[in-house]
Amino acid sequence: TLSTMEETTGRSTKRKVVVVGGGLVGALNACFFAKRGFDVEVFESREDIRKAKVVNGRSINLALSHRGRQALKHVGMEEKIVSKGIPMNARMIHSLSGKQSPIPYGRKGQFILSVDRANLNKELLTEAETYPNTKLNFDHKLQDWSAETGLMTFARSDGSNEEIKADLIVGCDGAFSAIRKQFLRRSRFNYSQTYIPHGYMELTMPPINGEFAMKPNYLHIWPRNTFMMIALPNLDKTFTCTLFMPFEDFEKITTGDEVIEFFQKYFPDTIPLIGVNALKTDYFRLPAQAMVSIKCSPYHIGDKCVLMGDAAHAVVPFYGQGMNAGFEDCLVFEEIMDQLNEDFSTVLPEYTRVRVPDDHAIADLAMYNYIEMRAHVNSKWFLFRKHVDNI
Ligand code: FAD
Repeated sequence: TLSTMEETTGRSTKRKVVVVGGGLVGALNACFFAKRGFDVEVFESREDIRKAKVVNGRSINLALSHRGRQALKHVGMEEKIVSKGIPMNARMIHSLSGKQSPIPYGRKGQFILSVDRANLNKELLTEAETYPNTKLNFDHKLQDWSAETGLMTFARSDGSNEEIKADLIVGCDGAFSAIRKQFLRRSRFNYSQTYIPHGYMELTMPPINGEFAMKPNYLHIWPRNTFMMIALPNLDKTFTCTLFMPFEDFEKITTGDEVIEFFQKYFPDTIPLIGVNALKTDYFRLPAQAMVSIKCSPYHIGDKCVLMGDAAHAVVPFYGQGMNAGFEDCLVFEEIMDQLNEDFSTVLPEYTRVRVPDDHAIADLAMYNYIEMRAHVNSKWFLFRKHVDNI
């Protein structure tokens, strides 16, 4: 019978899955689909970051937590990534006077990990390529696609186009998803996006005498109510400091001396650690970057297309869960594929049903933590609550 034939041949081998976007979630997703035996192709607009000289993009490092690790474990990647991560057992709150007070993330022995974004992306792409049924295409930017036929058009930098058809299109093309544009044209698709007034800027704190300039196993926070700075450790013994501040405040600082004045007032303990000259120049290297929160629903169209990662839910970074939630999307989809026997016509609606409320909750929590981290973490109320809720 057909069903026994499907069991023995594995019906997934016949079907083609195209993952649009080879960022963190797209690369991991390729591993999930490849492991199930689908014919997988990934199309990424940028060049292969494993060959690129300069990797442009967002944050240099990220906090990997339990959700993300569970998904990595499923494709056998947990140890590889964890071994190159730096455990952060607690937040380290820096007061204006330079006093440092740790606030643990959980119970003794629990921690989140600081991981290098570029390395994580490279490792996941390399892992995806180990599957013979996976092909990675770089320098392919999605231009247009049809939800009716599954036909996609990609543009290459030499001006040529490539057309390809898939049984399932997985939109992992980030917060400004080209896949999602087709969703927006359809009836009963809910969509909202909110830019927060804050921007972010990254600054590097170099090692001192070959050692970390601050205690490495912490996520350092300088909460200053309307703005804040955080710092996460890197394997090369640097810290990446991220300053989060309203755009209008970023714009008020226009000279090197004003940068120092500002740091003197709010982050005096970091000046000798980052260095006066570095501060004066690095502040002006790149403009502050915007942060957006995007919610939408449903996450699928028929049995043809599904959104995952930032394409489905861009969140503000204050809860450290954007990538982790995107990784969890892959795992949740995988579980539904098992439950519903890889039938896209039932798997996709079920994925929307279970996943939308959870991802919207993460977006709300991230927005809440936007205030928590820069203001409440300063207060006695917070110190009291951490004993009660273990936050
Ligand atoms: P992306 O990483 O944006 O990847 C999308 C990919 O699609 C890119 O490679 C892009 O080139 C490609 N693409 C785009 N358009 C097209 C197209 N038309 N055709 C083909 N390819 C295309 N998350 C955490 O979990 N922990 C943290 O600590 C954390 N810190 C953060 C700090 C900052 C400052 C920011 C901004 C974010 C942070 N995040 C964090 C969130 C995290 O960066 C994102 O959630 C994560 O990158 C989402 O991965 P993604 O693969 O969905 O999207």
